[in-house]
Amino acid sequence: MPLSQSQRASRTAQSEIRVMSLECEKVNGINLAQGVCDTPVPEVVRESAHRAIDEGVNSYTRAEGLPGIRRAIADKMHRFNGLECDPESEVIVHSGSTGAFYAACLALLNPGDEVILFEPYYGYHVNTLLAVDAVPVFVTLQAPNWRFQPEDLERVVTPRTRAILINSPANPSGKVFSLHEVQWIADFARSHDLFVFTDEIYEYFIYEGRHISLATLPGMRERTITISGYSKTFSITGWRIGYIVCDSKWSRAISYFHDLVYVCAPAPLQAGVAEGIMKLPQSFYEEISQEYLRKRDLLCSTLNEIGLIPSIPHGAYYVLADATILGGGTSREKSMRLLRETGVATVAGSAFYRGGGGDNLIRFCFAKREEELQEASRRLKTLRERVGRATVA
Ligand code: PLP
Repeated sequence: MPLSQSQRASRTAQSEIRVMSLECEKVNGINLAQGVCDTPVPEVVRESAHRAIDEGVNSYTRAEGLPGIRRAIADKMHRFNGLECDPESEVIVHSGSTGAFYAACLALLNPGDEVILFEPYYGYHVNTLLAVDAVPVFVTLQAPNWRFQPEDLERVVTPRTRAILINSPANPSGKVFSLHEVQWIADFARSHDLFVFTDEIYEYFIYEGRHISLATLPGMRERTITISGYSKTFSITGWRIGYIVCDSKWSRAISYFHDLVYVCAPAPLQAGVAEGIMKLPQSFYEEISQEYLRKRDLLCSTLNEIGLIPSIPHGAYYVLADATILGGGTSREKSMRLLRETGVATVAGSAFYRGGGGDNLIRFCFAKREEELQEASRRLKTLRERVGRATVA
């Protein structure tokens, strides 16, 4: 038999976000495709990481992370999320929340287990499930409100359902799950005895509504795997510092798989993040959401003005916009057309749906410096002149 890659590898495809970032580079465009926040890293975080390197915090740490950052996370979970956890046995520091989710899937899912998630989805969630031979099952949310009903969950559950995943605030829809909705999910998970994976990476990026950690709902602590990290909050996407908070029943297996794949998260960077969590005042977090609210409003008003009607996000830093004015074809073609016409890169809506969905949507990311967003806005406004009257309303 000739050499070949695994069946698993044959099922994968390069992420649409990376594809569009490459296309954007070719034309020297403005990349509103990728969620790379290039706002400054807080000084205390940078300086503490430098100091940790200078002071010799450069070796492997325990798989679950340095004690200082685990204590800082447990304290933050109490203050911000309203969840009590033991830093020694219930907090695991990971290589980003991406690594955290992968380790949790390896530890808790068997091949063929079904996991319910909401569509439009974040591609890494689906691809991670596929990589561990789990089966994603979708509940589709409709623009512009992205609501669902308890019956939508009951319709897709089967005897093989093992977990449900929520991402609030969500990428790409910007949905912030309401108290009603998280209560429905909690009732559903309890009645069908499911794990809940909750990706809370955008917990500080809220413009409307409030963040509710699902693990705080009655009876949910034991079955909920809370995943988050500091990539977004501290603008350190390249540092790879994330974490899981879960019942001590599961943490040993999860940290085993984290050890196997990554050994540990980068040691001096764990130290930098720990200082940031302990020292940054409440106002730092309030300013983040105010700054991103301004950016959201700038982008959304431009999109409204040019007829790419946005679904206004309540959280996170992405906007899904209706791309009808960009003419026919797939959402990839619409996104490429926008890049050609204006030099602004976006992601095709189809990247967030299974076969066929999302073809009328494109996603913009507003985690950009103010000047860059202003320039993107200026370029987008030229769309009306560039695209023929036949398509631009
Ligand atoms: N989860 C969601 C929903 C995201 O949108 C992203 C990044 O875009 C991540 C996780 C990645 O986080 P990390 O850098 O902690 O791996």
